Amino acid sequence: MKTLYPYFSQNPLNRLDQIRTKDFEVEKLKESKNAKFLLFDGNDIIVDEENKICLFSKNMIDEYNISYESIILLGEYEDIIYFSATLKANLKDSLSKISLRDFVNFDYIDEEKFGILAQGASVLNWHESHQYCSFCGDSTVVVNAGWRRDCIKCKKEHFPRVDSAVIMLVTFGEYCLLGRGVNFKEGRYSCLAGYVESGETFEGAAKRELFEEAGIEAYDVEYLFSQPWPFPSTLMVGMRMKAKSQDLTLDKNEIADAFWVHKDEVRAVLNGKEDSIFSIPNKIAIARNLLEVWIEE
Ligand SMILES: [Zn+2]
Repeated sequence: MKTLYPYFSQNPLNRLDQIRTKDFEVEKLKESKNAKFLLFDGNDIIVDEENKICLFSKNMIDEYNISYESIILLGEYEDIIYFSATLKANLKDSLSKISLRDFVNFDYIDEEKFGILAQGASVLNWHESHQYCSFCGDSTVVVNAGWRRDCIKCKKEHFPRVDSAVIMLVTFGEYCLLGRGVNFKEGRYSCLAGYVESGETFEGAAKRELFEEAGIEAYDVEYLFSQPWPFPSTLMVGMRMKAKSQDLTLDKNEIADAFWVHKDEVRAVLNGKEDSIFSIPNKIAIARNLLEVWIEE
């Protein structure tokens, strides 16, 4: 199998785990001239279009009046210290932003560093939804340079969480299974997927999801590769498996339609064929990577 890196899966940062707990050192890094800040407004990334910049210096940060409460230490690479932060609401009109989903279409940052964007967005998304303690309901505050929140009342420690979801390349001979969720846009088909439940392995989750959604039993289930998916904070786990039959029984609450597609047709669509009855997700989706691996075989 050729080496393949889904978007957001490459992250060269040393995450500086030993420094996170030392507030004084983190402050020093923030103030240093080597500090660079990724600024987010939800899942939009702030950019300086004129100068093609998405990593801002400390001086620029001060001008933009960023809330320090929400600044996260991401790590270090080639003498640059990376932080991510959420902009305050009084965002200057002069700032432009690009959706994280569309960012791959611009050349602000090398693909080898896209994992930094996913890291920055995911952990900020987690902070956004964990302002209050899930044990006692009181407020939480940021500690460890953004890698923990502590409850001010019961002192419970909360850590950024990642939800795992399996996404499956299901094959039967020269055919693979593609389906469309009930919320998909017209004509769009993809690999079936679902969240891993408590007490489950990736392999177990993949078999269960396939059976629940399509009524098919599978064997030879194996892990292929994974992808951080910062919408809001998921790890997509790419699996492949063989179907025991092609008889579909769809769960219509989740799957609007599914069908078996021959490898030649998948190859044609991946290569840009436009008059097919289905389209597949664009290049940022791991589903596309799973299909690319398969047609190469
Ligand atoms: Zn609490």
